[in-house]
Amino acid sequence: MDKFEVAVIGAGPSGVSAAITLARAGKKVLLVERGDGAGDKNVFGGTIYAVQTADIFPEFWNSAPVERSITEQKIFMLTDEDSSQFSYKYKLREHKAFTVNRAKWDRWAVCQAVDAGAYYAPKTLVKQIIVENGKILGIETEFEKIYCEIVIIADGINSIFAKQLGLRNDIKDKDVSVSVKETIELPKEKIEDRFNLDEETGCACKILGGPLKNKMALGFMYTNKNTVSLGFSIGIDELKKHHLKPYEIMDELKSHPTISSYIKGGKVIEYSSHLIPEGGYNCIPKVYDNRVMVVGDAAMLVNNIHFEGTNLAMLSGKLAAETAIDALNRQDCSASVLSEYYKKLENSIVIKDLRTHKNTIDVIRKNISTLTSLYPELACQFFDIMSSADYIPKRAKYRKFLSTVIKKGMLPSVPLAILAMEKCFKK
Ligand SMILES: Cc1cc2nc3c(=O)[nH]c(=O)nc-3n(C[C@H](O)[C@H](O)[C@H](O)COP(=O)(O)OP(=O)(O)OC[C@H]3O[C@@H](n4cnc5c(N)ncnc54)[C@H](O)[C@@H]3O)c2cc1C
Repeated sequence: MDKFEVAVIGAGPSGVSAAITLARAGKKVLLVERGDGAGDKNVFGGTIYAVQTADIFPEFWNSAPVERSITEQKIFMLTDEDSSQFSYKYKLREHKAFTVNRAKWDRWAVCQAVDAGAYYAPKTLVKQIIVENGKILGIETEFEKIYCEIVIIADGINSIFAKQLGLRNDIKDKDVSVSVKETIELPKEKIEDRFNLDEETGCACKILGGPLKNKMALGFMYTNKNTVSLGFSIGIDELKKHHLKPYEIMDELKSHPTISSYIKGGKVIEYSSHLIPEGGYNCIPKVYDNRVMVVGDAAMLVNNIHFEGTNLAMLSGKLAAETAIDALNRQDCSASVLSEYYKKLENSIVIKDLRTHKNTIDVIRKNISTLTSLYPELACQFFDIMSSADYIPKRAKYRKFLSTVIKKGMLPSVPLAILAMEKCFKK
């Protein structure tokens, strides 16, 4: 093979976005993927986000293999048997997010990069980055050595190459969660009936509590055309601490009365599992050095509070590629020029949003029982009060509700509730 200007390791959203940006600028770029096809090794929930995706693939929804455009966001708060649901349903004015099947989406995305001029090498495992006398010279695959000016590391959460170069340490258990997902096949009409959708629209659900209560765990359910994706992610430390088995939690989730009503009669056609970086801002490694940059999950760029990963992956890939284009034009691929990549990340929503949430996970961890057990219970109790007309006076019901709030240590919110109630009951 000839010498390339840039070699990108990994054809996930971050790698493809980097490759396509470089190819469009006329740079000679090689995209290497170990899977038989892009997407074969990739797992996600999930939704891709329209605005940032369209930045790389303009109006992609007209030609890409998307499943459904999301028009409803739901939060299920489960108790052991009941649930309350909060929903935001909107008229489809502009696309916000789409469910996609990664095996189909990633393949389509790679074709766009190839059409733009990128060289693509599937079924090719990169074994190491070639470093001689401290200088990065290229990549070594299972077949050959490939030389280039810049390597972009887009190999996902385990990133052996960021570790090889000393840019990243092993991830701590508390900074990573494992996610399991079942793809459940159902007739299209049943999905549309149960989720109140039409052919074009889709629903994205987050699940709190129930079998996930008192754990750093969150469930999800997404509608595709003919399938529903159901799963959850849970901290590795939680699994170890409580000796939990993900498939047991999955079975409990599927048999919860609320969830089972959505998937009843469905056939599981895929079971998958993958790691998600959870450490956020505090875990971002060094993302550049002489002749190298790290993008996407490999750089831990996931905003788990908002379920955003693919968009940050694509954006970081694009920003790294733009930095590489500038460096190649200047014929200077040193760390000082590539440091521009980190500045671009800082000025973008990637680092701005991760910084906003830099303490959020710790706060959630400290309040996990309140969030996943108490709130779902209170929400159900509240709806129960509102919906049952019997011979118990309303005042007694409100007292009981408030006493639960007090007993469970939610005192800070009590003065406000009392003030509100006093106002209501003022004679
Ligand atoms: C269950 C689950 C649900 C999720 N839900 C959502 C969601 O709803 N929305 C969202 O935006 N994000 C979601 N995410 C996160 C999102 O999937 C990731 O943030 C995103 O895929 C990261 O893209 P990436 O390109 O950095 O890495 P990846 O998608 O992991 O791609 C890395 C690629 O590198 C390849 N590779 C690795 N090593 C080598 C090697 N040695 N040689 C060659 N190739 C190699 C892999 O095969 C792979 O194709 C979810 C993740 C999980 C696990």
